[in-house]
Amino acid sequence: MNQTAKIPFDVTAIRKDFPILKREVNGYPLVYFDNAATSQKPQVVIDSIVDYYSNYNANIHRGVHALSQEATDAYEAARKKIQKYIGAEKQHEVIFTSGTTHSINIVANGFSNLLQEGDEIVVSAMEHHSNIVPWQMLCQRTGAVLKVIPMNEEGALQMQQYKSLLNSKTKLVFVNHISNALGTINPVKEIIALAHQHGAAVLIDGAQACAHQQVDVQDLDADFYVSSAHKMCGPTGIGFLYGKESWLNKLPPYQGGGEMIKEVSFEKTTYAELPHKFEAGTPNVSGGIAFGIAIDYLNSIGLEAIAAYEQQLLEYATKQLLEIPGLRIYGTSADKTSVISFNLEGVHPYDVGTILDKLGIAVRTGHHCAQPIMDFYQIPGTVRASFSFYNTTEEIDRLVAGVKRAQQMLS
Ligand SMILES: *Cc1c(COP(=O)(O)O)cnc(C)c1O
Repeated sequence: MNQTAKIPFDVTAIRKDFPILKREVNGYPLVYFDNAATSQKPQVVIDSIVDYYSNYNANIHRGVHALSQEATDAYEAARKKIQKYIGAEKQHEVIFTSGTTHSINIVANGFSNLLQEGDEIVVSAMEHHSNIVPWQMLCQRTGAVLKVIPMNEEGALQMQQYKSLLNSKTKLVFVNHISNALGTINPVKEIIALAHQHGAAVLIDGAQACAHQQVDVQDLDADFYVSSAHKMCGPTGIGFLYGKESWLNKLPPYQGGGEMIKEVSFEKTTYAELPHKFEAGTPNVSGGIAFGIAIDYLNSIGLEAIAAYEQQLLEYATKQLLEIPGLRIYGTSADKTSVISFNLEGVHPYDVGTILDKLGIAVRTGHHCAQPIMDFYQIPGTVRASFSFYNTTEEIDRLVAGVKRAQQMLS
């Protein structure tokens, strides 16, 4: 069955932009379904890194010479692209970081001075470990208490329970926009509005959202929003922290060093203005520039087209996989992205993943950095296939055939 032809989306042309998709693995053409862990990179992004180091490599923000100017302009242009991409009001509300984890830690560290013993922090039951551990550390430092929004069997947050957790002691709420383990799209706009009624700030982990749907931080009214370039067709080692200007001004710097100061003497140092206050040291210049190119690339395809195409892949794969007897999908919320977490009855997910790898199909197995979710379902982990806009229904057919083969071999 060739469904791809029905989709108004030139996936064949798009695939040519990604050199890695020409690869073979174990004698088969690569099927890459580990996009929730990291995305592949189009040639334009790869080229932009080589171009930077070949033609205008220099340290930024302080040089008078031409190369430094060019590099600074390109880096700051990338910041502007991120600002537009997420709908931020001001360019200096976008802080370059090394990625989601770094961004979350800047905020968690910043709140050390703003919390008191007995204050409450609310997180969801479906967070990535990077969105649990920094808050536990913050609670240890401050005496604040961590509260958890439970989820239901479908893998959706229980909003009634969330409402009952909020009170005047709630200072912070942290929720991912989209769960990396289940694909659930959380009702973050509603979550933010409810938190604001109690005067709490909200940080949204957008690591899974930014490559798959249009994000508008002003419409959401998010206080903080974070993501990593490497999940958005960009390089590793770069990401952003968006924060409302008023919040970023309240938080202390995370690291001390060059770039983040206005004046330094041994008596007193004054910090630089935003965004530099949070960007100590020489940044990942090539990464920032390449991140901007990745955003141009995603925009050239269009987030709406990407979301619509990925929904078709999700529906196609869900239908086919559910026809396999004994296969259970975890995360069946009506509102979800192209992530399918599943298990075969009586079979360890690792064994399924190993057989799929032998067939050239890359999936992830395990707890997906979200152990509390696995505890909830009382399973050791799942097999996770996560699709991107460069995947095809033919590749899904190969996954389905591979899962059937694994089932025959293992049960
Ligand atoms: C990948 C991911 C993270 C961590 O991102 P890093 O790039 O490893 O810092 C955090 N949250 C979610 C939902 C993720 O998918």
